[in-house]
Amino acid sequence: MDTQFIRNFSIVAHIDHGKSTLADQLLLKSGAITQREFKEQILDDLSIERDRGITVKARTVAINYTFEGQEYELNLIDTPGHVDFHYEVSRSLAACEGALLLVDAFQGVQAQTVANAYAAIEVDLSIIPVVNKIDLPVTRIDEVLEEIETVLGLEPDDALMISARDGIGVDEVFEAIINRVPPPQGKSDAPLQALVFDSKYDSFRGVMTYVRIMEGTIEKGQRIKFMREGTTYDVLDIGQFRPEMRVCDRLGPGQVGYILTGIKDLGQVHVGDTVTDARQPAEKSLPGYQLPQQMVFAGLYPTDSSDFEKLRDSLQKLSLNDSSFSYMAETSDALGFGFRCGFLGLLHMEIIQQRLEREADVDLIQTAPNVTYELLLRNGETKKIDNPQEVPDAGSIQEFREPIARVNFILPTTGIGPIMQLAADRRGTYISTEYLGTNRALMIYELPLAEVIYDMHDKLKSATRGYGTLDYDVIGFRAADLVKVDVLVKGNRVDALSTIMHRADAERRGRNLVKRLKKEISKHQFEIAIQAAIGGKVIARETISALRKNVTAKCYGGDITRKRKLWAKQREGKKRMRQFGQVEIPQKAFLSVLEAG
Ligand code: GDP
Ligand code: MG
Repeated sequence: MDTQFIRNFSIVAHIDHGKSTLADQLLLKSGAITQREFKEQILDDLSIERDRGITVKARTVAINYTFEGQEYELNLIDTPGHVDFHYEVSRSLAACEGALLLVDAFQGVQAQTVANAYAAIEVDLSIIPVVNKIDLPVTRIDEVLEEIETVLGLEPDDALMISARDGIGVDEVFEAIINRVPPPQGKSDAPLQALVFDSKYDSFRGVMTYVRIMEGTIEKGQRIKFMREGTTYDVLDIGQFRPEMRVCDRLGPGQVGYILTGIKDLGQVHVGDTVTDARQPAEKSLPGYQLPQQMVFAGLYPTDSSDFEKLRDSLQKLSLNDSSFSYMAETSDALGFGFRCGFLGLLHMEIIQQRLEREADVDLIQTAPNVTYELLLRNGETKKIDNPQEVPDAGSIQEFREPIARVNFILPTTGIGPIMQLAADRRGTYISTEYLGTNRALMIYELPLAEVIYDMHDKLKSATRGYGTLDYDVIGFRAADLVKVDVLVKGNRVDALSTIMHRADAERRGRNLVKRLKKEISKHQFEIAIQAAIGGKVIARETISALRKNVTAKCYGGDITRKRKLWAKQREGKKRMRQFGQVEIPQKAFLSVLEAG
């Protein structure tokens, strides 16, 4: 295919501004899906995704569109919207020449609109501003255009006015993509350079590698090489998503599709890698991606210790599909063998945990997440800490440093007061306020990352009746008065419950924590003391009194169905419990640390 007639673009937007709806419209108008499928999709999205093992809904779709008598191939590369996935967004953007930046006609520019626009600007894409939902009974179109100009620095006259839901202005979107997004560069006879921008494990076909061809041509049967590992394979199949997988003979410069090589060894395919021809390799690999930095860590342990290998396998499979999380085997006195996993944020952590439980069928115990800390030791060494257990004696620490985030809040001006208060409570440093029109503002703060990730989003939503949005970037580490707080249950330190916190908060949070634990841990035959301590010093204590009577006693001699029920219940209860010393600690207790804020 002549590159002149190819366009590669993404749709970026703040969540709910209409990306998926517009993607569906583009598929519908181009005939890639029928009206019936359009409706079905909305209903069946998840089951279809599961059944086919591939997102039908515009993950990466090649669309044919005829404009002024000429047929074009438009490759739409979808991007996720949440702050945790900036990395994924920039990855998709690197495979495009243009981006549609959607802005809700009422809500206007929001925190993720800014973040996504900057990500697109950074990789030099042509950005087409699109004001969506113009059908709404109340819109703020003039102000929204002004925000597009002042906040994003884009030309408001270039903005398209559409309603993705009602299909208004969609033809203009096609026209703008064709006229304003530059065609890809690249020669079909040059040595092959294909960017691996995603990959997926399919239990029948093995590893599916998603590529965007930069230079050269890839064909079925060709011997290719993954440049990073230097491994070579035959191309068994190649194809495009239309939106279903459809095989084709070759992909040329600018085209986007998948390749199948029968790779089963998951370690072989890396997102950001370059695929080249094994016989005539390209001289250099493509710049690839900056590796994302995991800032949030938590321990994941199988509830049943015999599931350890199963968990390792599943982590490996998942990491192929999502290269932005990390895992390393670790052991805990309390929880046995498990993994220390690194995530981009809390949402990312939740998703990984859910996917593991669903896809791998392993019950997990997860420890409370913590951010990465940095220590300057008295011996001059600096040390990264991903796990509170690794914090040495206070005596050997010169400086305890925590990650700092630069946070952009976009909010109604009525939210300014509450956010200033919140930021002050969270040890924030005020940077600036900029007014966007008459009743909205962009406020910038520097805040400890730990204070941002846990519940800042919820707090912001409640302070602004849902209208505020935030986005953040980690800008570095700063010294703070931090301490490690340990938890002792019946005199034994439970390593998986240790946390790092600010000294000024330690007493209050320590007290809340032991109170919570008291609620989570049920009564035993004996008294259980729960203590929070810094070093050897106890800062809070609660006691769980002993059970008075033996609950099983009443079953002796009782009828057998009742006994069976009780046993079944106990088995159920055992899932997600861990015996520690003589004390059973439920999964929820390990997360109490989080809620003790
Ligand atoms: P995404 O999160 O950016 O993918 O947003 P969605 O496409 O899922 O849309 C979010 C919500 O906005 C859905 O309820 C859509 O039906 C609605 N929506 C999308 N486009 C329009 C539009 O043009 N007009 C109106 N009134 N609603 C829309
Ligand atoms: Mg969506």
